Amino acid sequence: MKRLLLLIISVFFLGVMLAYTQDKPYALGLVKTMSSEKFYGRGFVKKGDKISAQFIEIELKKWGVKPFGESYQQSFPIDINTITKAQFETKTHRYKLGIDYLVYAGSSSSHGETQLYIPKDFKLGTFLKTNHQDKWFLLDTIHYKSAELIENYRKIINTKAVNNCAGIIEVIPNKLLQTQRTYQIGFPYLQIKSDAWDTLAQNVKIRVQNKFIENYQTQNVIGYIQGETDSFYVFTAHYDHLGLVGNQIYFPGANDNASGVASVIDLAKYYYLLGKKPKYSIAFMLFSAEEAGLLGSEFYSKNPLFDLKKIKFLFNLDMVGTGVEGLSVVNGLSHPKASELIQDINREDSLFTDIRIGKGSANSDHHYFDQAGVPAIFIYLRGGPQFYHDIYDRSETLELNKHDQLIRLLTQFIEKYE
Ligand SMILES: [Zn+2]
Repeated sequence: MKRLLLLIISVFFLGVMLAYTQDKPYALGLVKTMSSEKFYGRGFVKKGDKISAQFIEIELKKWGVKPFGESYQQSFPIDINTITKAQFETKTHRYKLGIDYLVYAGSSSSHGETQLYIPKDFKLGTFLKTNHQDKWFLLDTIHYKSAELIENYRKIINTKAVNNCAGIIEVIPNKLLQTQRTYQIGFPYLQIKSDAWDTLAQNVKIRVQNKFIENYQTQNVIGYIQGETDSFYVFTAHYDHLGLVGNQIYFPGANDNASGVASVIDLAKYYYLLGKKPKYSIAFMLFSAEEAGLLGSEFYSKNPLFDLKKIKFLFNLDMVGTGVEGLSVVNGLSHPKASELIQDINREDSLFTDIRIGKGSANSDHHYFDQAGVPAIFIYLRGGPQFYHDIYDRSETLELNKHDQLIRLLTQFIEKYE
């Protein structure tokens, strides 16, 4: 009986301890806040990036994270194209931004009602020789029968300088994908889902307004917890997302990448609650302008706040809100010893059903560190909802299924890695 009681008590305390060390409800709360409307999609319209940076700084401070020098925020300039207005209709349809169509992030402005130019053949010459300034060019990748035609006309778009039509409408398969662009192209450009497109349309009424902002000051948020040594483990995640478009829709970016930011902040909480100095120092880096081309982490890696050589290992977390199908390690093949340890810990603690170790790729914020010779990997989780760069990547769809397992894996790694 006494033994049973002891067992119950120890199970209870283990439960309490786990609840304190890996705080999924706390992380979920962070994701919910950062993906809410008040953060404007963590972009560069209405200072979504600054609101986010401020919020992250306050959370890090709670967990004893100190700045390198005076400030947690490392400011840097970017050029960014923003879409401030969007309206799109045909005679019979009024399209919904974000649901039916998107304005390409690099688009320029347009206003008025015009005819459509619908190509009949795949000869570029016919199109290029004539002036169609009064017409919107329709690139229907679904209904045009000729692959060559589509290919040829896509080439025109890729020159980014079409100047003989009013703009381009591209009919695409049924997945809209928003981006960020640091430049504006020479023409307005819309993409509409094929099931929304009115194939009988001859005229379109369009209003697109862009604002190109040069030298916008955005910022990384960076701090650390002092350990027993000056050697650092680093956790990184980008906090920026795709912002507000047309002052109508915002991109919540719950999985991409409020989930990664929440995990990094929860790691700060973990090391704070250890109640003693960790063996190594731990740095927390939340980058801006990843979606515009890894700009925040590139800037940091070229303007580091402490010697990059002091980084023992760096983990970049980007899209870690799911995990039911497993975990992927980008650039893991370049670090076999670390990857083996990840596999070992996973086996011992039964954390993920499947771990994939992959090669390097310039697809997230680990990249410029890797280029600078820092041992760096990028971890993302697989499975669950597949919302990506659209208005549906919301906190309601995200369970952080494997949050506790991810924190366990990372903290165990730091315990065991030599
Ligand atoms: Zn993204």
